[in-house]
Amino acid sequence: MKNLYEVKVAKFGGSSLADAAQMKKCADIIKAEPSRRFVVPSAPGKRFREDVKVTDLLINCFALSAAGGDWLPVFEEVEARYNGMISGLGLELDLSSEFATIKQKLAEGAPRDYVASRGEYLNGRILAAYIGYEFIDAADVIFFDNEGRFDATKTNNFLSDLLAGKENAVIPGFYGSTPDGGIKTFSRGGSDITGAIVARAVMADMYENWTDVSGFMMCDPRIVENPRPIKIVTYRELRELSYMGATVLHEESIFPVKVAGIPINIRNTNRPSDIGTLIVNSTEGFRTDEIITGIAGKKGFSVIRIEKDMMNSETGVAMRVLKVFADIGLSFEHLPSGIDTMCVVINSADIKGREREILGAISKAISPDNLELEGSLALIAVVGRGMAGMPGTASRVFTALAREGINVSMIDQGSSELNIIIGVHEDSFETAIRCIYSEFNHE
Ligand code: ADP
Ligand code: ASP
Ligand code: MG
Repeated sequence: MKNLYEVKVAKFGGSSLADAAQMKKCADIIKAEPSRRFVVPSAPGKRFREDVKVTDLLINCFALSAAGGDWLPVFEEVEARYNGMISGLGLELDLSSEFATIKQKLAEGAPRDYVASRGEYLNGRILAAYIGYEFIDAADVIFFDNEGRFDATKTNNFLSDLLAGKENAVIPGFYGSTPDGGIKTFSRGGSDITGAIVARAVMADMYENWTDVSGFMMCDPRIVENPRPIKIVTYRELRELSYMGATVLHEESIFPVKVAGIPINIRNTNRPSDIGTLIVNSTEGFRTDEIITGIAGKKGFSVIRIEKDMMNSETGVAMRVLKVFADIGLSFEHLPSGIDTMCVVINSADIKGREREILGAISKAISPDNLELEGSLALIAVVGRGMAGMPGTASRVFTALAREGINVSMIDQGSSELNIIIGVHEDSFETAIRCIYSEFNHE
């Protein structure tokens, strides 16, 4: 028997809710445990590889409408997806007045976030009707401030009071509202954030995140075939992995549950009996002996390499370099430095077309002995709490890369001994991940 007081928040991703058959699986999962009282759905995702997510269809409607084009045929695809779900589930629900409102707003030039958010809104309406839970519009409970920043305090106060009096509810993911009543969305994949916010508000015992994989794999399954699943990972490790592109969970979704110490369980809607990945504050009490927890990476970086003799002893050099970036409003990703060198790793997209301006400003600020910019860099994070106190992990990584003839153009080892970040040319990205993975996983 389940403990009556146990509360779980279950967030279902786009592929888990892509059509009526998938939605039935979600409903079965919800009904299997009475503790699954609060449910956060995404918009319908892809049903097959070439399919288009409803959110993308809606963003396309907005783009067409903004450009004065004909968005109606695309919106009719959206309507058809929802109507297909309603009939596939045998529901009485009629969403035609909702569709009419959205079309009316599109015709009047509705903003992007409003249009994009309708995917979750409509899916929430259907799921709530199907499982018989109360529907709560996220616009009424998830708050952003006038600058468009998520207002965690206001939201948590309001939502925890409201949900304390509810037996159950469906709250659509991805969006909320601003003080003027407008709709604001999180960044793409943001339903994960809503799930975490709701979990914190009800002080859930568990935040379940249902998706299309049986948890976090040690690396992206699109790069390494059948990577080992991660059974348990800490919030901090996961934050490093998500930030570096392991996209199972939105990187910002860790914060709300971390402050409340709520564990996250990544589960597979298509294989509900798999245990998935458990994300916790500390692995104390769990038996784990892996050195490396996971490997993740992203392309699209550039590194500015600055050399200046005696850089370390001359005061204020680093500060003047960083001031150049602050003055032009650019943030940097990493800042590995040596005795006479300093590297600034930045997003290539952020400096596009401004390379000469930036290098010129650095030259003027510190008169370096050597200054160069290297583009087409991919960053790879090798993450693992097991690395602390295990000397030799970095050298194993570099030996493995050297064996494949991969040149490492930047290294940054965090002082927490939780991760090693390396920069390689984008062309070697996939090979580098594969060879690091096999270095730590040949049985
Ligand atoms: P959802 O729509 O349920 O939110 P996402 O597409 O956002 O799901 O996230 C799940 C996907 O993340 C998987 O299908 C997989 O392709 C991808 N992915 C990237 N890195 C990893 C990893 N390390 N482990 C598992 N899946 C990963
Ligand atoms: N539907 C939104 C997206 O596609 C949010 C989400 O799925 O989490 O980005
Ligand atoms: Mg997602």
